[in-house]
Order: sequence, then C-alpha cells, then structure tokens
Amino acid sequence: MSSPVRVRIAPSPTGEPHIGTMYTALLNEAFARRHNGTFILRIEDTDQSRSTPDSERKIMEAFTWMGLHWEEGPDKGGPYAPYRQSERKEIYHRYADKLLKSGHAFRCFCSSERLDLMRKTQRMKGEAPKYDGLCLAIAPDAAAKRGETEPHVLRMTVPTDGTCDFVDGVYGPISMPWSNVDMQVLMKSDGMPTYHLANVVDDHEMQISHVIRGEEWMSSTPKHILLYRHFGFTPPQFLHLPLMRQLDRSKLSKRRNPTSMSWFEAQGYLPEALANFLGHYFVRFEEGEDELMTREEFIQRFDIAQVSKAGAVFDVKKLDWMNSRWIRERKTPEQFRDEVLTWAAREGRADKILELARTRVEKLSDLAPLIAFMFVGHIDLTAEAFDGLKATREQMREVLSRSFGLIDSLPEFTGESIFNAVAAIAKDVGLKTKDAAPILFVAITGTTRSLPVFQAMEVLGRSVCRERLRAAVKLVSDEPEAMAEEAEAAEA
Ligand code: GLU
Repeated sequence: MSSPVRVRIAPSPTGEPHIGTMYTALLNEAFARRHNGTFILRIEDTDQSRSTPDSERKIMEAFTWMGLHWEEGPDKGGPYAPYRQSERKEIYHRYADKLLKSGHAFRCFCSSERLDLMRKTQRMKGEAPKYDGLCLAIAPDAAAKRGETEPHVLRMTVPTDGTCDFVDGVYGPISMPWSNVDMQVLMKSDGMPTYHLANVVDDHEMQISHVIRGEEWMSSTPKHILLYRHFGFTPPQFLHLPLMRQLDRSKLSKRRNPTSMSWFEAQGYLPEALANFLGHYFVRFEEGEDELMTREEFIQRFDIAQVSKAGAVFDVKKLDWMNSRWIRERKTPEQFRDEVLTWAAREGRADKILELARTRVEKLSDLAPLIAFMFVGHIDLTAEAFDGLKATREQMREVLSRSFGLIDSLPEFTGESIFNAVAAIAKDVGLKTKDAAPILFVAITGTTRSLPVFQAMEVLGRSVCRERLRAAVKLVSDEPEAMAEEAEAAEA
C-alpha cells in the first residue's frame, strides 16, 4: 500500500502574506482533501533577522480567511510538533552531525571578504558564482579542532561529475549537472540551519509525501535530493508550480503590483471568488463552460497537469468579473449585507475610523465624504492635486518615493512610527514636517483636508498605502518605472 498523502505549506514569516503563497497553499490543501490526506502548516523561521510573530499571525489569519484548514501546525500541534523551525534546532544539529561524520558535510572557515572576492573573480570570468572548495582540503580532525574556537559554517559536499535526475510532477523529467550545484551552506555560523537543511530534515521527519511548491525552488531541488541521498532517505515527490505572472509575463513583484493578501482583502474580494480565481489555473473548463466553482468542485476537478508551464497569468479583470458574479449570483441579500459589514469592520477598523472622524464632523451626513477614502479601492488622483503645496516637484518625488520605501522597512506600521520616519525624510529633503505631511495627505486621501493622515495610514495598512504611494509617485515623477527598478535592485 502506498503511504498516506501528507502535504505542507511552509511559509517564511517575513513581511505580508503573498498571493503566491495562497495559490500554493490552496492547491496543497485541495491535494490533501482529494487523497484523504493531511495538510500541514510549518513555519520556516530560521532567518531570525527577518521573521516576525506579526507576520506569522497574518499568515494564519489570511489562510483562515480563505477557509483553509490545516490539521497540524504551530497553533494546532500534532504528532510531529513543534511545527515552527526555530523550536527544532536540536533536531537539525543532530542531522548536521550525521553529515559531518559520514563526510557529506565539512566545516568552512572562509571569511566573507574571501568569499566576496572569490565570487567577484568568478563573475569577471563569466562563471556562475559558487564555492570553490578551499576548506575541503582541511583534514576533518584539524577542522574539528579549529571549529572549537573559530567561527565557521557547515557546507554540503556535491559530486563533481554527472547529473541530478528526477521527475517533477509538473515539469516532467529534469536533469541538472552537479557542476552547477553549489556546496550549499547547511548550518550558519550562528548555529541556525539554512532553509535547505531544515526543509529537508522536516519534510522527512514530518513524513511529507509530496512537496508542492513554487517554481522558484526548482533550482534548489538537486541540493535537496542530494541531502536525502546523503541521509539515506527516500525523497518525497516534487511538484513545482509555475509562478504567477503579470499580463506581460513579468514576475509579480510587490514593487510593481499588489501581491499582499491584505490588499486583496482591502479591495473587498470575497474569499470564495479569490479561491475560484486561483483555482481556475488548475482546472480545464470546456468551451463555454461556466468557470464559477466552489471549493468542493475545485477539489474534485483540479488537475495539476492543466497548469500552463509558461506561468499562471494574473488577470485582475478576470478576478473582478468572478468576484462580481459571486456577489450577484451566489450571495443572498442577507449574505451580501453580512459580507459588507464584516469587511468594513474587519480588525476593528470601523471603530478606529469613526473615532478619527468624530471630532471632525458637524453632522453625521458629513461622515461619508470624509471617510470615503478609507473604503475605496483607488482614489482618483490627478497631478493637479499636488499643485499649491509648499514643495518642489523634486521634493515631492523624494518624499513620496522614500515613503514608499518605508512601507516595508518600518518594523512597526503605526501612526507614530510613520510620522517619525516622514519627519526624518522631510528634514533630509529640506522641508518642514508641516510642509511634507500634506504631500502624503494628497497621496493617501486625495485631498489636503481629511482625517489625520498618519493614523489613517496605520488603519489602511501597508499594502493599501503602498499602492497609493506608487500611484502618487507616478503622477509627480517622469520616470516611475526607473524608480521601481532602482528600488528592486536595492532590495535584491
Ligand atoms: N520557506 C519556503 C518559502 O517561503 C518554503 C519553500 C518550500 O515549500 O520548500 O516559500
């Protein structure tokens, strides 16, 4: 008898939950349901500098909002607990020791300066950067001795000849030469495992039968297969899902388009419609057949072989159309009312907005125009809206594009932290805070007189502010695309 189906979604809790994670999670869950299997949530937080509890909470909330149900996870426990990698350090050490003993891993003492220089030289020669194996020459005993006092990492050995061959459940037979595979770091000098080691160890320990994940991990798969081999384990089946792409086939990137789940929620997409939209990439519809489907229908009908290997093209118009049909055809008037009220009040926002507005209205009827910007999908902004502010266009561009950069870098997104950061930007570009704030007022609210903008930004949340600032930068600058590229390059 074949072993039971156990699949997982393994997000790293850094930043806002991404629509691509949801796409992968939906398919994993459906796969588990179809095969009477188990769907597991594992939090991959080995990058301690970037992982936050807030992000982990948001991931779980987003999955719950989509109606996903996981049987095992950090909040649920389960037979293979803990499900948070930062709580599993001893396990990884045990496995790393095994590799050291069997000679499949070695200590590497190279400094970051040496590694930088090595990579630079390789690039100059037109070679792909990878570790040159210097520390392989140190005898294991001598390396162990040095390791007692010297900082080091652990790397995996990789065959020099031949190819790694495997069959991907989506892409079919894959063959990659070992010479292209780097001697991957498995343990960092801070004693934390890298993604690769922790991921393989956990997939094995948690008896994962199928690894269904984004195509961006395909190039790591030979390393993973090699680790399974070094440990003497049978690898799970791998299925890589083509990335979601823009209409022009470029990758979805939060620098260029909305990718956060919170943005889709803020726009008022229904979870059923979003699930329908993400699921439609995996279902073959006959000519003229209705593409509206429930989750149950999706579970019955999905076929991973259906997905286009060129990428799942994200057509927002199609999503809008599906959403409108879910509202019109699948919701009763009462359900629609409940959807609207729940949406407007989510995470206490209705109360927060009313409190900000209370001291600013004379009559209740003043409320709607004052708070409309908190609820609309896009504000109608024109370049003229910025006329008359006490700043040059160049200063506006600076304030807006640097505020755009803040969205992801601020550890906390609160009225106070945003104000402080914007005050610092204002000073840098030679503006008084009171002259810089109106620039944001216009970008976020569409006018210069409105609710207090920094508190409003907190309530709107990062993803909505990101989109409004992006639109505003476009309006005040000549080369918005160049800005996005600059920011992307800085991020990479
Ligand atoms: N932690 C990885 C991520 O954030 C998991 C990749 C995988 O599924 O192996 O996507």
